[in-house]
Amino acid sequence: MKRDIKWPNGYDFAFTIVDDTDGATLENIKPVYDYLYEKGIITTKTCWVFPPRDDVYKGDSFERKEYLDYLKLLKKRGFEIGFHNAGSGTFNREETLEALEKFKNELGEYPSLHINHSNNTENIYWGGRRFSSKIVKFIYNLRRSEIASLGTKKNSEYFWGDFVKENVKYIRNRTFNGINTLKIDPKFVYRETGKEEFSNYWFSSSDGMRLSSMLSLLKKENVDKLIKENGACIAYTHFGYEFVDENGDLNEDFKKAIDYIASKNGWFVPAGTLLDYILEDKDYKPSKWYEKNMDIKWFLDRIKKG
Ligand SMILES: [Zn+2]
Repeated sequence: MKRDIKWPNGYDFAFTIVDDTDGATLENIKPVYDYLYEKGIITTKTCWVFPPRDDVYKGDSFERKEYLDYLKLLKKRGFEIGFHNAGSGTFNREETLEALEKFKNELGEYPSLHINHSNNTENIYWGGRRFSSKIVKFIYNLRRSEIASLGTKKNSEYFWGDFVKENVKYIRNRTFNGINTLKIDPKFVYRETGKEEFSNYWFSSSDGMRLSSMLSLLKKENVDKLIKENGACIAYTHFGYEFVDENGDLNEDFKKAIDYIASKNGWFVPAGTLLDYILEDKDYKPSKWYEKNMDIKWFLDRIKKG
């Protein structure tokens, strides 16, 4: 199956980034976003409202005023601010709803895009519950001790699926190798079977998780291929890691990669805007068969990466 979408205003391709906020501080993300803005690449950044409460992750939250002010500036510049749970660690219903109210008070609206964070108990259809393929689910649960993912369990103290259904339009699920996300998963954006009660649309992304994978994703030949295929790339990353060195300097190779994309005739809008456009092209019906295929594709990509 091939998906051909005509991009607006004669653009040859679409490119955006979704950035999980793990490890992000004002110091290590400002150089990245100022650069993207300067180059006209307007993307999506997720955030935490509360500071991390586990020992695994670090990063700024709304509690640091200078950081929050910068998020507001990004929003003013056209970037989309998404949700990455209330924070890192686990947050119950009351805390998650409080975080969402704070989000609205500070940024003017609820987040319409959410990305589940790591092993947070209140995640939405996460852990093994992400998958429609029983085999993939089984192997996934063997390899990672099962993540509870109780955000959609009505009687749990971690439930907030009702809020998601009402307010959150998009959640990221699978991540693949390869720059043309729309070629790898031609039906996205779609609803998923068994997840309709407490979620809306799910989207896929291309793996640029760390600096090294982002640089290989954005190699010239890949960008050229994306353009030739008139495709769409939603690059998934963590700008909080490695992109900026301890002197506050943005990685030179990343700058060059961004310069190259920015020099092309691409549509560079936040993920939410791009997903709205793709959804307008066609709203596919949920299909377990298709989801299983995507699960297996996802799993084979994982094995390749090792
Ligand atoms: Zn995360």
